[in-house]
Amino acid sequence: MTLRERIESHLDELVACLQGVIQIPSVYADDDSGYPYGLAVHQSLEYMLKAAGDLGFQTWNMDNQLGWCEYGEGEEMVAVLGHLDVVPEGDGWTVPPYGGVVKDGRIYGRGTMDDKGPLVAALYALLAIKEAGIPLKRRVRILFGLNEETGSADMKYYNANGGEAPVMGFTPDGEYPVINGEKGLITEGFRCELKQSGALKLTEITGGAAHNIVPDYAKARFACDPELAAQLCALEAEKICCTATEDGLLVEAFGVSAHGGTPEQGVNAIGRLFLFLDRLPLEGDLKKAVSLIAGRIGLEWNGESLGVAMRDEVSGEFTFNLGVVRGDETGLEVKLSYRYPVTKSFEQCGPQVRAAFEEAGFVQTMIIHKKGLYVSPDSDLIRKLLTVYADCTGLPTFPKSIGGGTYAKMLPNVVAFGPVFPGDEVREHKADEYMELSRLADNATIMAEAILALAGQ
Ligand SMILES: [Zn+2]
Repeated sequence: MTLRERIESHLDELVACLQGVIQIPSVYADDDSGYPYGLAVHQSLEYMLKAAGDLGFQTWNMDNQLGWCEYGEGEEMVAVLGHLDVVPEGDGWTVPPYGGVVKDGRIYGRGTMDDKGPLVAALYALLAIKEAGIPLKRRVRILFGLNEETGSADMKYYNANGGEAPVMGFTPDGEYPVINGEKGLITEGFRCELKQSGALKLTEITGGAAHNIVPDYAKARFACDPELAAQLCALEAEKICCTATEDGLLVEAFGVSAHGGTPEQGVNAIGRLFLFLDRLPLEGDLKKAVSLIAGRIGLEWNGESLGVAMRDEVSGEFTFNLGVVRGDETGLEVKLSYRYPVTKSFEQCGPQVRAAFEEAGFVQTMIIHKKGLYVSPDSDLIRKLLTVYADCTGLPTFPKSIGGGTYAKMLPNVVAFGPVFPGDEVREHKADEYMELSRLADNATIMAEAILALAGQ
């Protein structure tokens, strides 16, 4: 019996196991249950530990922060890292989001793709290896993370409290063929106080929803006399709309939304708004702040005027996204994110960005830095995973570098491998999230072969 045949013989149980965990709405909650990520997230862990125990694996619960099951023997350990927490269901579902409905060869529900489906598939991959009695030279640990979607505090806890580091491993929380490069990611906030003078006073400015989304709309309101408003309304600019209001002027800017990791695919409405505001007769603090954003960011997404444009062969360009602006008469706040190429460092961009804002009167309000990840395509790990993928699918293989950060960053020697196949629809975080039953079997088979390649003799 091949591993694939063994997995297919258990497919009904695999699907039933997945249905059960989909039915637990394990969205992070700050409730009074006493569990670090809320009661439902905890229940999803209990459920998976029991499922793993019932299949004959030893299980651990690390202080309710995360858990794992293990199989095999040996000094060294190979990790399969996944997570049981999910993002909120959102709107637009045509099936119950926590129903685990099976129809037309698919299983629907929040988490089927991200990341409960892949984790349950990993468990049955390990079962197939155990049943086949294939000897392993390394232990295999499937980690059930609980906080991937809201900060990865689970894995920080694991690393800070003596959690064993794997010699190698993968996380089925990205895509195939394999992700061997992830840019460094910085999320940063700045604020400047405004003491306004002059004929044109800012009363409100808003744009964007999150640091990692290119905003498609931004607007600013000013108080001024009607004559000035009329004069400014006559200024022309592309995708800018000026309207005289009861007490002054409304300026609206339109752009094109995109993911913050690929800002070149969008047009930043906040940048466009500031380019226009820079033409207005502003004064003092406001003038300084507007000139910085217009002059050194504007519609640029590559950091050129900030002096941090750079690229490498492996992962491409430095990218920058001004995601959010909020403000009123008293101050102005921005939230932005930028990503540096995998072979470059924070020191080559972070201080420069901060200095530019500070020069214009801003102070930093927050910064989160997720380091980049790069595993050579010639490494044992990448070569083995790509060989497994090619053998199982017959598809072309290539290591891939991405702008974003996956769970892989939380453990050393781990890369994202699956569960999304090239060309398949992106469904995670969307309404009607689903996984084909055939893809569950594909994923389980590939993971079983990958586990063998990394942990076998
Ligand atoms: Zn995920």
